Amino acid sequence: MAAERDYYEILGVSRTADSAEIKKAYRRLALKYHPDRNPDDEEAVSRFKEASEAFEVLSDADKRARYDRFGREGVRGAGGGGGFNDVSDIFSAFGDLFQGFGFDFGDGGGRSRGGTGRGESLRQVVVIDLPEAYTGCRRELHISRRETCDKCDGSGCAEGSQPVTCSTCRGRGQVVQSQGFFQVQRPCPHCRGEGRIVRNPCIGCEGAGRTLQEVVREVTIPPGVDTGVQLCLRSEGEAGIRGGRRGDLYLEIEVRRHPLFQRDGRHLMYRLPLTYAQAALGAEIEVPTLDGPQRLTIRPGTQPGDVSRLQGLGMPALQGERGGQGDLLVEIQIEVPRKLSEEQEELLRQLAELDHSSVLPHRKSFFEQVKQFFSGQGSDDEDS
Ligand SMILES: [Zn+2]
Ligand SMILES: [Zn+2]
Repeated sequence: MAAERDYYEILGVSRTADSAEIKKAYRRLALKYHPDRNPDDEEAVSRFKEASEAFEVLSDADKRARYDRFGREGVRGAGGGGGFNDVSDIFSAFGDLFQGFGFDFGDGGGRSRGGTGRGESLRQVVVIDLPEAYTGCRRELHISRRETCDKCDGSGCAEGSQPVTCSTCRGRGQVVQSQGFFQVQRPCPHCRGEGRIVRNPCIGCEGAGRTLQEVVREVTIPPGVDTGVQLCLRSEGEAGIRGGRRGDLYLEIEVRRHPLFQRDGRHLMYRLPLTYAQAALGAEIEVPTLDGPQRLTIRPGTQPGDVSRLQGLGMPALQGERGGQGDLLVEIQIEVPRKLSEEQEELLRQLAELDHSSVLPHRKSFFEQVKQFFSGQGSDDEDS
């Protein structure tokens, strides 16, 4: 099945390709298999999606590293591996790559007569740590997006010139074609649905009416977000076409795994190692939480697998979500020492005697065993 091909193979690049090579390879494939150039060709659509999926992963250093180590499993559910629902999703994610190629991306379908249209929506992944998800945080975003060209104010025409009405569709932007009994309306191929043609294009934007620019925005990530949460920044996508509305910017949140805390919805969990003595006698100890260290009382007779619940020390609810803060669940583990001091060993042996539990005899040191071996003594008579 083509869907499981290696991402490097799909793009036709080596595993050591740098980001410029990857971008170039993707652009070449995307233009070749672009649905506008291959109308009604299912194969081209699937090639196009496949290449976009590969690019989405390999163009992101973090995802690429995970893919290199774990394959597709490493990037599944994190926006890679088939996250796009349809072709226009891909356009909005990578719209900037196609700048100047004369394609009509994104929400371009909403383009109305007269050539105005809504700007494309963009998508950006924001990776944060668990403590940042707990408190909420701020992030500086660098957004590459098309802005209205200031030379022509978005008209796409050179100074002093005007667009002319398209003669093919007479300015309607649509043409009607007959297919058997049906009449099908399509965007006009001559003016590409705009109803007008720019004869004398603006030098600033080559007639597109928009130019690619980088803007910086500081955004607030609210407390309680989890991987898969999508935040929408209204009107922070690409500029509209000839006065159309701006697109939106979607932020896809990815929360990194924490080395200690595991997250289960709003609850947090970790395993707390205790000594046998602490579990048996009870203890008052300090434990880590995302809100700083907290005192925790261990009852005498605590068993491995017992769970202490620290109420309200889990993750907060996202704004507008029902319910309150989650809890922190501390699961008790009993740690068995790998090494004992002589004194510890002696005390444990006394304890074992009290319990009438049978334990292995003292282990002789290696040198004692060697001495015994040469003096002809057996090794069965030790200790008793
Ligand atoms: Zn036309
Ligand atoms: Zn311009």
